[in-house]
Amino acid sequence: MSDCLFCNIIAGNIPADILYEDDKIMVFKDIYPKADVHLLMIPKVHIETLAHLEQSHHDLIAYMMLKLPQLALEQGLDNGFRTIINTGKGGGQEVFHLHIHLLGGKNLPGF
Ligand code: 5GP
Ligand code: ZN
Repeated sequence: MSDCLFCNIIAGNIPADILYEDDKIMVFKDIYPKADVHLLMIPKVHIETLAHLEQSHHDLIAYMMLKLPQLALEQGLDNGFRTIINTGKGGGQEVFHLHIHLLGGKNLPGF
């Protein structure tokens, strides 16, 4: 069993509140939400950080970016939303499987 938390969520070994899934990505609720809406979007392939992206991931990362506004609208965030990618320990990353935070709602904290 992989010791990557998010790979284990993808594999179904660890439960998560999954809102969207296809062959490339998964979207689930953050377990410790920092806003009314706080989702995590991850690629199904294990990529450690944004800094580990390779040219071969070009289409995948574009796919993720294009899906984000769609997901935000589905969550009722028609007035805007925030996306965050923490990269590496210096960037505050705690789970080393690339993920995009999607945050929004009335209680969005200041940046
Ligand atoms: P990072 O700091 O790496 O950018 O963010 C990791 C995020 O994963 C945090 O916001 C944290 O709350 C979330 N998280 C940590 N463990 C779990 C878990 O087991 N399940 C879910 N759904 N989210 C988690
Ligand atoms: Zn992983």
